[in-house]
Amino acid sequence: MLEHFRPFFFWAGIANELILNGTEESVTYQKTLARPVRLAGQTLHAGVPVSCILSPAPVGHGLVFRRLDALAEVADVPVCPETIVIAPLCSRIANEGGTSISTLEHLMAAFRVFGVTNALITLDGPEVPILDGSSQPWVRALQEATIIEQELPAQVIKLTRQISVSHEDSHATLIPLTAEEDQETFSAAIDFDVPSIGVQSFTTTPTLEAFERDVAASRSFVVTSQLPDLQAKGLIRGGSLTNAVVFDANGVRNPEGLRFADEPVRHKILDAIGDMYLGGVEIMAHYRGNKAGHALHAALLRCLFADGAAWHWADEDLDTKVVAFRASQR
Ligand SMILES: [Zn+2]
Repeated sequence: MLEHFRPFFFWAGIANELILNGTEESVTYQKTLARPVRLAGQTLHAGVPVSCILSPAPVGHGLVFRRLDALAEVADVPVCPETIVIAPLCSRIANEGGTSISTLEHLMAAFRVFGVTNALITLDGPEVPILDGSSQPWVRALQEATIIEQELPAQVIKLTRQISVSHEDSHATLIPLTAEEDQETFSAAIDFDVPSIGVQSFTTTPTLEAFERDVAASRSFVVTSQLPDLQAKGLIRGGSLTNAVVFDANGVRNPEGLRFADEPVRHKILDAIGDMYLGGVEIMAHYRGNKAGHALHAALLRCLFADGAAWHWADEDLDTKVVAFRASQR
């Protein structure tokens, strides 16, 4: 039975490199958590307590958020191109039943750099807890949960041409990797009219090592001139100096100061890594963002997934393999 399928069992856990047509190609396996882990905290927008449990999930499951406070038939929101919502000032996904999940970018960035492809994320509210405003608590949680490889390769999107979106002076672009390249890069630039931020730029690779060292601890930030508008829109009822860096004309208001001299642009990179994983799949591309935010990132992904000529699945047959694998497990 399933003769064509057996090699996957053989590869799994044995080798991360395999020989295809005489050329070496690196294979990344699907990954999940070895055990559940729970984090609880406040939400940024509504300012209410929320509990979040990250649980293991089987091959082919994907990343799925489950709202415990929603009706069971509309409680699940999968992370996939169809659920991406263009929302101001946060990342958001929503299903056809109207159930949404907001502020998932810092968790998504941690999932991306750990390579987590299958997990069930249960929440008892509409937002992921903001915690300290960075990805560091999520990185620690995933380390505590232990990330394990599963039996099949992970799906990857390969870009075939550049995709760009812009709005006023904000730009975001995905650029295909060249034939010689096997590592994506993320570059971001910002230009703020307060001297304590000013012009900043940063480039990194979305690897766990670089993320932990250079990006994960960078916190969300805000400039005091933005506060009245954000407060009027009810977007920061849970915002405080414990989960965001606040800049004014004189500098940083947080008594503990900055975690990095260029913390804002590093956080822009963090958000971009998380947002570019909102399709639920790694995109093999270089990201370039200039003053880019969540709404522009959502628009960029919409443009990408709407343009079938701009990308292809690295493994067109993976869905079939997943079905066969599940059948073999029964
Ligand atoms: Zn953020």
